[in-house]
Amino acid sequence: MSIAGQLQVLRDRLRPGVTLVAVSKTQPAEAVREAYAAGQRHFGENYAQEWRDKAAALADLPDLVWHFVGSLQTNKVKVLLPAGPPRAAWVHTVDRPELAHELSKRAAQRGAALRVLLEVNVAREPQKAGAAPEAVPGLAALVAGLPGLELRGLMCIPPAEGDPRPHFRALHAIGESLHLPDLSMGMSGDWEAAVEEGATLVRVGTAIFGARPPRA
Ligand SMILES: *Cc1c(COP(=O)(O)O)cnc(C)c1O
Repeated sequence: MSIAGQLQVLRDRLRPGVTLVAVSKTQPAEAVREAYAAGQRHFGENYAQEWRDKAAALADLPDLVWHFVGSLQTNKVKVLLPAGPPRAAWVHTVDRPELAHELSKRAAQRGAALRVLLEVNVAREPQKAGAAPEAVPGLAALVAGLPGLELRGLMCIPPAEGDPRPHFRALHAIGESLHLPDLSMGMSGDWEAAVEEGATLVRVGTAIFGARPPRA
């Protein structure tokens, strides 16, 4: 099915109030254009250079909103947020104070608030990014006080195996205890379960664009 067709299938099943983030990592800029022409406005990227290059290639689409959903090294923040005209953007993967400070500094220099989500390692997987659940309240307080950032909520990537719902519920509970409005959870294989558990942003790649080309 075409990108427009896949988007329509998803839209027909999404409930109001849930933002569909089309994860376009490793897809060419033309695929983003095609989705944009079909009405899609929120796009997600995983790699700082690819975000920068695609944002430049698509700078003529003024109301396109970028979401960074990949692991972010602090020294890549300058690639992600170069000096220049501010654009609406979200970062879903803030998981440590140094990264929050650097994002705030760069965002404040551009004069645009950056919406951020804290990534939580809900299942405490040793190899995974994300703050430990008990570290989230402290990190949330820090981010809420930084001038360049607007704290919106939490994000998680549950373990690849097993039922994701207990992890979605755990994230929901932390978000509620901190009175945060947004939850980014759910991908192509589990977004419906995530929406049932309270997701406000779902990150869907292959169910829109098809299989990903290998990373260049
Ligand atoms: C790639 C990716 C997605 C999209 O995954 P699909 O299974 O293709 O929908 C969502 N979230 C993150 C963090 C990703 O890296």
